[in-house]
Amino acid sequence: MADEADPRFAPVSFKDKFVIVPDRWKVDFMVSMGELSLFFKELKENAKLMGTRCPKCESVYFWPRSWCHDCYEDCEWVEVSQRGSVTMFSRVDISLTDLQKEVPFYQGGVHLDGVRYPIVAILRNVTMDTLYRGMRVRAEFLPADQRTGRVRDFYFVPDT
Ligand SMILES: [Zn+2]
Repeated sequence: MADEADPRFAPVSFKDKFVIVPDRWKVDFMVSMGELSLFFKELKENAKLMGTRCPKCESVYFWPRSWCHDCYEDCEWVEVSQRGSVTMFSRVDISLTDLQKEVPFYQGGVHLDGVRYPIVAILRNVTMDTLYRGMRVRAEFLPADQRTGRVRDFYFVPDT
């Protein structure tokens, strides 16, 4: 019996002289992380946050970059701080990603100490009433047997 929400079973439609066929793709694929592979390896195996540093201007990037966008120099790996400050935040009531399925959840900009730019990350153990710009946070990691080497392996909590 056909799933009525499945577009592959919906009737075609017509636009001008064309027939529009509703369809669905489900694609499993693999991607090499190339030069940035160490970030994912250290995250999964050692619960470390690895960034990169430009040897010329000493900018530290997290998320890591393989080259500095100012100097065009190849960057070198450095472990970055797991502590930082919240730069902005929001409550999310509709999840559009597999990164975080349970709603509501909180996400925000986290500017790790010593790093050039903030990242967007999941915030836990917070509410809209307790969050504020400048709140100190620290990274927490899923237990080793639950980490998959993806960015959802870590999140930030108040650093109290
Ligand atoms: Zn640089």
